[in-house]
Amino acid sequence: MKLLMVAVNTVKPASISVRLHVMYMHSASYRHRSGKKIMASHIVGYPRMGPKRELKFALESFWDKKSSAEELEKVAADLRASIWKQMADAGIKYIPSNTFSYYDQVLDTIALLGAVPPRYNWSGGEIGFDTYFSMARGNASVPAMEMTKWFDTNYHFIVPELGPDVKFSYASHKAVNEYKEAKALGVDTVPVLVGPFTFLSLSKPAKGVEKTFNKLSLLDKILPIYKEVIADLKAAGASWIQFDEPILVMDLESHQLQAFTKAYSELESSFSGLNVLIETYFADVPEGAFKAVTSLSGVSAIGFDLVRGAKTLDLIKGGFPAGKYLFAGVVDGRNIWANDLAASLTTLQALEGIVGKDKLVVSTSSSLLHTAVDLVNEPKLDKEIKSWLAFAAQKVVEVDALAKALSGAKDEAFFSANAAAQASRKSSPRVTNEAVQKAAAALRGSDHRRATNVSSRLDAQQKKLNLPILPTTTIGSFPQTLELRRVRREYKAKKISEDDYVKAIKEEINKVVKLQEELDIDVLVHGEPERNDMVEYFGEQLSGFAFTANGWVQSYGSRCVKPPIIYGDVSRPNPMTVFWSSTAQSMTKRPMKGMLTGPVTILNWSFVRNDQPRFETCYQIALAIKDEVEDLEKAGINVIQIDEAALREGLPLRKAEHAFYLDWAVHSFRITNCGVQDTTQIHTHMCYSNFNDIIHSIIDMDADVITIENSRSDEKLLSVFREGVKYGAGIGPGVYDIHSPRIPSTEEIADRVNKMLAVLDTNILWVNPDCGLKTRKYAEVKPALQNMVAAAKQIRTQLASAK
Ligand code: GLN
Ligand code: ZN
Repeated sequence: MKLLMVAVNTVKPASISVRLHVMYMHSASYRHRSGKKIMASHIVGYPRMGPKRELKFALESFWDKKSSAEELEKVAADLRASIWKQMADAGIKYIPSNTFSYYDQVLDTIALLGAVPPRYNWSGGEIGFDTYFSMARGNASVPAMEMTKWFDTNYHFIVPELGPDVKFSYASHKAVNEYKEAKALGVDTVPVLVGPFTFLSLSKPAKGVEKTFNKLSLLDKILPIYKEVIADLKAAGASWIQFDEPILVMDLESHQLQAFTKAYSELESSFSGLNVLIETYFADVPEGAFKAVTSLSGVSAIGFDLVRGAKTLDLIKGGFPAGKYLFAGVVDGRNIWANDLAASLTTLQALEGIVGKDKLVVSTSSSLLHTAVDLVNEPKLDKEIKSWLAFAAQKVVEVDALAKALSGAKDEAFFSANAAAQASRKSSPRVTNEAVQKAAAALRGSDHRRATNVSSRLDAQQKKLNLPILPTTTIGSFPQTLELRRVRREYKAKKISEDDYVKAIKEEINKVVKLQEELDIDVLVHGEPERNDMVEYFGEQLSGFAFTANGWVQSYGSRCVKPPIIYGDVSRPNPMTVFWSSTAQSMTKRPMKGMLTGPVTILNWSFVRNDQPRFETCYQIALAIKDEVEDLEKAGINVIQIDEAALREGLPLRKAEHAFYLDWAVHSFRITNCGVQDTTQIHTHMCYSNFNDIIHSIIDMDADVITIENSRSDEKLLSVFREGVKYGAGIGPGVYDIHSPRIPSTEEIADRVNKMLAVLDTNILWVNPDCGLKTRKYAEVKPALQNMVAAAKQIRTQLASAK
């Protein structure tokens, strides 16, 4: 196995050239002058992957059988040790443990409770890597458990499968082991558990269990195990335990809140001698939940997200129970911006007046799992931009600085450096582009739609495009070969010339075009060989975006994403895709789709500015994409696809906020293409099928054609049309799953298309795969597309003879 270096240093003396480092350095050294006094500070949770994704590489090497379990455990232990040490050195009082995970904290809880689905053949005893990773990733004979998004983050958790017959048992001692491990290193930590209420609420009925099964009825069965864990932790010396109950921020019914109250009253007997913290995050806590959580007599502390929870702040001001601790999440766990320390201090001082001096603890708004790890590993990032940022390691220092300031030991130099950075961010010319701001502001309140309705547009387009019924197309990308990645990498590293690069990409496009012609596909794509990522590719060409070298955030398991940072007003200095699209169009007589990423998706997959509302940034991106759409049209591209893969996932957690989000998100999409002629066909693509609840917003996007994921969800999507929703635009529900290497047969695809024809008009149906083909191999793509086209032709013939 490769030697994995684990170095989680907040402060590396070698790189103190940057002012920011000096700032954080200063604070770290402050501790020495002020003595060892530790202030009331807390971190909800910390990234596990390591500053250079050490855990990812160790996991993947273990999975590939290139290294042993011991080697993996060593990397993990080193990471945990360095994180605990870093927080202890920074002066954090309440340091979390058990926020490390080999895969996912919900899966860890499944293991803790012994809730292993029977298909994994677990035979009892302590759950080891075998069973654990089989649940996470599947094994040769059984597929993995389902994974889904953790609230509105891009982190995915493993969904517990529960029912009345599940036998629970205390089957993973990870929490107590990690507590002891930290203790042996001299760090007394707060063990963190996913709370029983959130755990059950996020579960789904196991196979064969009624959909209507009352999940919360299982509280009686899991609480005894939680009690065992609590007793174990107490015996090991823990004086605090943190229960994460983020589900409390959702819209809950009163019977659910009653179950929550009952659960914690039930646990109360085992809480004696312990301080118990209930931690909430990601949004405001609704009034009912606020009442429920603040009324628990056995609970001594409650944590709130005060970054996203401005209304929670009002609730606290309205009354907070005497004698309880308030863990005030003022440092944003979801973003990469440096805290406005002066503003936070004001908030904290106000809170101190309510809860009392010794009951206020400075904290992060959520686990830092959702932000990048350490700015120290960004030597190439522009210095000014860097001074505006704080990754997890820097946020720890901010929390500490705020706690010290509250207790009267304010580090003036640290605060004034922070104030200077805040001021520079406000006034920097690279943030502000007045023309863009004016143009975006002008969009508000007015509507932007194409002049004619979709059916007359489709007629006009058909005259120009002359497509057969059931036209075939693909979603955009073609397989990304090693050779392609090499060409892009070498061009970026300036190892090959621009001419050589363009030549190589052109050859690839030509290959993809010829292949699609051979396959007889109707509307072609250029294959996206010049793109590594559908957001980064555009971000790199837009103003207002910055990119990190190591700003990775865990998405699931060992997978991480590196979101761009939108720091300023967004504009498009030059056309971004016109050269490649028109080059591709020149290679064929068939229509070539221009291929763009939509504004909502660019927004939702980036770290977004926090100094203006999200919709403002979205409108700016929409204007940039609008320019691109119009340039493509001018260059003779008649079909333009604007992907909105992430529109659904930006939906706010609380229902009351849905309408507002959908309104500006859909408006942003329409802005991008409101200026094109009737004869230009606008497509959009979405990678999820769970859109039945937002179908009217999707119709309101007013695209001419939508291609959409459909095959993995038992055609859930079609049920919405079965139930009578009228859809007049073109629609291509995916006819096969591109996430699997399996090659679908012609019959199978034809069968799918026939099912769609039962609910959709013949003249609006398109035939296409579920999503882009970039993760597949040509050996899979060719036969699959061949069968897809054959199926479309077969049905065309049938339909023609039926006339
Ligand atoms: N056009 C993109 C592709 O084909 C869409 C990817 C996506 O929807 N996630 O790869
Ligand atoms: Zn997709």
